[in-house]
Parts: sequence; C-alpha cells; structure tokens
Amino acid sequence: MAFIELNVLNNEPSPILGIDLGTTNSLVAMWKDGRPQILKPEGHDGHIPSAIYFPENAEQPIVGQAVRERALVDPTGTVFSIKRFMGRGLKDVAEELSSVQFPASENENGQIEFDIRGRMYTPQELSALILMRVHDIACKTQLAGLGRRIVITVPAYFDDAQRQATRDAARLAGLEVERIINEPTAASLAFGLDQMKSGTIAVYDLGGGTFDVSILAIDDGVFRVLATTGDTHLGGDDFDRALAKLAHDDLIDQVGEETAQDSAFQQALRLSAERTKIGLSGHLEAEYRIVIPESSIRYHREIKRSEFEELSKPLIERTLVSCRQALSDAGLEATDIDEVVLVGGSTRIPAVREAVEQFFGRKPHTELNPDEVVALGAAVQGHILSGGTRDILLMDVVSLSLGLETVGGGVDKVIVRNSPIPCQATETYTTNVDNQTGIKFTVIQGERELAGDCRTLGNFELKGIPPMPAGLPRVAVRFQVDANGMLSVTAKEQSTGQTARIEVKPMHGLTDEEVESMLKASYDFAQDDFDNRRAADLRVDIARMCRASRAHYEEAKPALDRETIEDIDEALKAGDEAASSNLPDELQKVRDEIERATLPLAAVLMDAVAKSAMAGKTLDEL
Ligand code: AMP
Repeated sequence: MAFIELNVLNNEPSPILGIDLGTTNSLVAMWKDGRPQILKPEGHDGHIPSAIYFPENAEQPIVGQAVRERALVDPTGTVFSIKRFMGRGLKDVAEELSSVQFPASENENGQIEFDIRGRMYTPQELSALILMRVHDIACKTQLAGLGRRIVITVPAYFDDAQRQATRDAARLAGLEVERIINEPTAASLAFGLDQMKSGTIAVYDLGGGTFDVSILAIDDGVFRVLATTGDTHLGGDDFDRALAKLAHDDLIDQVGEETAQDSAFQQALRLSAERTKIGLSGHLEAEYRIVIPESSIRYHREIKRSEFEELSKPLIERTLVSCRQALSDAGLEATDIDEVVLVGGSTRIPAVREAVEQFFGRKPHTELNPDEVVALGAAVQGHILSGGTRDILLMDVVSLSLGLETVGGGVDKVIVRNSPIPCQATETYTTNVDNQTGIKFTVIQGERELAGDCRTLGNFELKGIPPMPAGLPRVAVRFQVDANGMLSVTAKEQSTGQTARIEVKPMHGLTDEEVESMLKASYDFAQDDFDNRRAADLRVDIARMCRASRAHYEEAKPALDRETIEDIDEALKAGDEAASSNLPDELQKVRDEIERATLPLAAVLMDAVAKSAMAGKTLDEL
C-alpha cells in the first residue's frame, strides 16, 4: 500500500511568478531556494515560442514549441510576433501587418482584430493564449502551491495603451498582475544592480525581432529610465536573413524562382540559417545544411565566423547608432555608464558582445543567460513584492574557474568560469613516477595559468594506489558544484576503487571586488601567464624524458656509436640545465633536441625488447 502526502493545509501566500512575454519567446521564472530560477519541465528548456498555430478544422489552437514545426508544413496557419500589435491601432502597424497571414480590421474600440479561420481575435486575446500556455508550463514544474499572481514585463518604450493591453491579456488568461515592470529594469534586477547606491546602467537588448537600448539611473534601489530607443525591426531574424540570402543565391538556379518564393522553402532556409548562426556563436566554422526531400533539395556549405561577421557588420552598426542616440538623449557620454547589461538571445553573438564592450568601454554582464535575465528579474521583483528579501548572493554561475595544480605548477581547469550551477566535470589523472602509491591534489580557483598566481582552496591526498609504472594508474577526479555553490572534489583510483574527497565553499571570504581584480589580473597577465605555463609544462616534460632516457641508457650503450653517445649526453646535460630556465622557446628547443638525440637509443631499446620477447627474456636479463 502506498501513501500519498497531500499538502492541504497551506497558509503560505502563493509565490509571485515572473513572466517575460516576449516577441519571439516567453519565459516564466520563480524565486526558489534563495534565487530566481527559470521554470523548466523535464526535457524542456523553458523557452516558450510566442507563436500560435490555428488548425484548419477549427480545433484548439496550438501554442509554443510545437508551432515552429507546424509552420513548416502550414505557414499560413501560424501567428507570430503578436507583441507588435498590443495596444496599437491599424494605422500604427501598417508595415507589421504584412507579416500576418490573417485579415486585420479595427473594432469599435479602435483595437486591431484578426479574422482567424472565421473567429475574431484581438492581440490581447492572442497574448492571453500564450500566457495560459506559460502558466501551464509553470504548473508542470510545480505540483502544489503555484498561484496565479504574476509580475509581467514590457519594453521600456511601451506607452500606457500597450501596458494596459498587456494587463488585459493577463486578466483574460486568468492571471493577477501584481506589477508591470520595464524589461531593462528586470534585467538589472536579475544582476542585483538594484543594490547599487547610485549609478547609471546601459541595457542593450537584441532579441529575435527587435532591438532596444535603455539608459537607467538608479538611486537607492529605485530605477528611472533616462532614455530608451531602438529599432523595432532589427533582431536575430535579420542575421538569419543575411545568411539565408547566401543559400538563396546559391540555390536559385537549381530550384527556380517559383520554389524560391514558396513560403515553406523560405521557412526551411531561415530555420537552417538560424541553426548555422547559433553554431557560429560557439565555433569558428559551422555547416549550413538544407535538406528538403520532397523537393530533392540538398544543400551544404561551410561558413566561417569571419564571413558571418562581415555580413552582420551593418546590422551591429545600426544598434550602435541607437546606443549613441540613447546616450545623447540621456545627456551622457559612454564613459558615464557604470554597468552594461546584455539581454536577448542575439547578444550571444561574439561580434555583438565585442562591439558593445568596445562602445561602452567596459565588460558587459554576461554571467546569466541573456535570454533568461528578464524573466529572472521579474521573479526577483515578485519575490520582493511578496515580502522576501534577497540577502543571498545571486550565484547562478561559477564566477572563477576551478581546477587542480599540475606537477609543473600549472593549473588544469576542470570547471571553467561562467559554468551554470549546479555542474560537474570529471578529469582523469595518473602517476608521474614509477611505483607511486599516492597523489597529492591541490584544488585551485582562478583564471591565471600558474597555481601560484591563483587561490588555493585546499589539499587532499589519495593513498593506496597499487605500485605500477608511471602513467598506468587511472585516477578519476570529479568536481561537483551544488546549487548552493559548494564544491566537492572526489578522486577515485579505478582498479581498487580507493577514494579521497574534499569539500570547500569556493566563494567563501571573497568579495565581488576581489573576484573582479582576479579576473582583471588574468587579462593583464595573459601573455606572461601563457609563457610561464608553457615553460612549466616543458620543464616537466624534459625532466620526464631525461629520466626515461637514462633508465636503460647504460645497458644500451654498447649498441650505440661514439658520436651518438656524445650527442645524447649533450642533450641530456642541456635537459638537466634547463631545470632552472623560464624561457619557453629555449626549453622547446632543448626538448626537441632530447627527442631527436635519443631516437637511436629508443630504436636500440625497442629492438632489444623485440628480441628479448622472442627469446622469452626480460630486458634486464639481456
Ligand atoms: P530572444 O528574443 O531573446 O529569445 O532571442 C531570440 C533570438 O536569439 C533568435 O534570433 C535566436 O536565433 C537568437 N539566438 C539564440 N541563441 C543564440 C546564439 N547562441 N547565438 C546567436 N543567436 C542566438
């Protein structure tokens, strides 16, 4: 018999959800375990496309993720970018109307209405369908206690009518709006910038279809919008279109004008372009691949990030024109800005990040997912409205890399900076000398290449490794950072299962300023660090090669001629002397020289091993 626990007596007020009702995607977040979190049901990334598909047979409309695929098959049944029509009259949106397949008219209240398969829908009603889906997704992650109270975000440039339309949409969806907040304010809240006494913040928001930049002033936790400007027709879609044009031009002769105009073909082109674009954010090269079996279209092309950057240059420049405008509207210079916040999926494009950093002369905040910050900030506001405080440090990511000290004094980074927590990673290590039965591990935090320049978090030792030749034992070292930022490092020798473990709180005793100065040092010393690390690794390599070469040198000597012996002696002597060198190029030469000079020695030894194996003798017995 099973018992089910029912949470019947619950007097706690329901939490206030934070909803980012976006032009392309919507997200919902909630304050949980001391921080705002995006609500993601199992197997779902939390992004809910703000799109609706209306089946022809007047069945229930489909909202969210499934719509994109439907759009490929039946593009005429889908509605995208409804946010553009919120609180607007027909004449305000004449240009936008071309993107909607359904006839639009104005009702007696001056509101736009779309005739969708014989039923009239206002943008509020369409947005309500999306909000219902968003609430559904939230319910899927939370079994009990989830109410209908929300904080919802709107662009800073939304006027009263647009804000009212957003409120109405929520009401139609059965939700209670506790507060409407500006998207740039929400993004700043997500980064905890409300805790600044005073200062100015630039929020650069490049989403799927729109761009805006806002300059905010903060005074004792209160945000004021000093200026906001942007381009409601500039976003990730334009970057996709620039790439899709390449494929279009390559394919036009093969497919002909008629297919090229076909909306299903164009959708396929754009979806592949988006995939390629996203690939190029993480890699220097990506594949642009389109396969449409029904039309026997197969297309494949490699695109370099540099090619894509050339195509994107004019688009990025347009965003900077708006940034200049916003600064001038606020009566400020770029140097007056204290913090820069990036919002929107398209700010993952490396060239966009670089351009923004260069423009404002400071590194933008990128510690949180740029497409999640608005919803996360709305959840922070919801938490504050429901009486909560946020005395817990926002630590959504590992702020400094975590790793182990190597034999030569370098650092092996196991979990890299900015990895979202919780996270884990495993690296395999081995012994450095024969019959070594223990390994000492030093856990290091920081970005510099040498352990001495980083912070040591702790030491521990794995004992009981069975005696084996160097390099044979396999020790798996697992780094695990839990949701509270606690790090545990476990080392396990694979053949015996022998384990050792340490637990530390990596951020303990570190102020934000100290983290920042550690990061700054890693940029300032990047070249020196790289050289020092290379030198350290080479010294270890050289010492190992000298040791290995000397192990059977005396036995092999009778088979070597005098010149070779002199050559090897000289190379090994240079190897010994190199122990105190810190010049990577010189060390590299010494290392290469040992490798070259000891080649005949290696040949003799291998020959001897082969013969001894055949004679059933060991090398030592020869
Ligand atoms: P948002 O409206 O903030 O959800 O942003 C959506 C836009 O971000 C779309 O145009 C996506 O193609 C784009 N996007 C998402 N991830 C990436 C990425 N890794 N690199 C470039 N663009 C991206």
